Amino acid sequence: MKERISLVAKAHERIGAYLRPGAIAIDATVGNGYDTLFLLWQVAPGGRVYGFDIQRSALESAETKINDPELRACLTLFADSHARMAEWIPQEDHGSIGAIMFNLGYLPGGDKAVTTRTESTLAALAAASRLLSPGGIITIVAYPGHTSGAPETERVRRWCEAIDPQCFKVELIHAKPNDDTAPRLFVVTRTCVE
Ligand code: SAH
Repeated sequence: MKERISLVAKAHERIGAYLRPGAIAIDATVGNGYDTLFLLWQVAPGGRVYGFDIQRSALESAETKINDPELRACLTLFADSHARMAEWIPQEDHGSIGAIMFNLGYLPGGDKAVTTRTESTLAALAAASRLLSPGGIITIVAYPGHTSGAPETERVRRWCEAIDPQCFKVELIHAKPNDDTAPRLFVVTRTCVE
């Protein structure tokens, strides 16, 4: 799907400007591991990528893509829901996360029944906004074109709309501006220090 690739590329482009070696990032939906690998390239050496996926098979397949020991040394994976990210991430890293990526929906080529769900996505976004460092970035690629993706995308849009504008800036990038079912990218940056 062309739109998916172009939005993920845009998310990478934006995130690349926010991360440096030594930084900390979260991949909230590891899936095939491409975003995880991208984040590792940005933060290694010396940084950390925390990755979450509820499918252990996804984490295993992601791990096979990360062969470089220098990158592996920077990676910590959790087989749990991103809704619980704040419980897994060490306290000393709270408020120091430079970038958090969400790629919602189901795993391409995987089990389409295992998809992100509105309630856990919203819980994860709330946690992510608290874990983010000042000047940090959250990207969310959402897919309104499938049954459960439409209400999920709408709730993400409302979450972005309701976020404190004194503290966060939100941008919306459409893959196809006049197509309600086309994927879209939400970019949330934290502008305040407190
Ligand atoms: N639809 C995207 C890929 C999304 S992959 C695309 O086309 O590129 C989404 C991943 O999120 C899947 O691997 C799935 O297992 C994972 N996932 C679903 N619910 C989750 C949750 N609550 N916490 C963490 N990962 C989750």
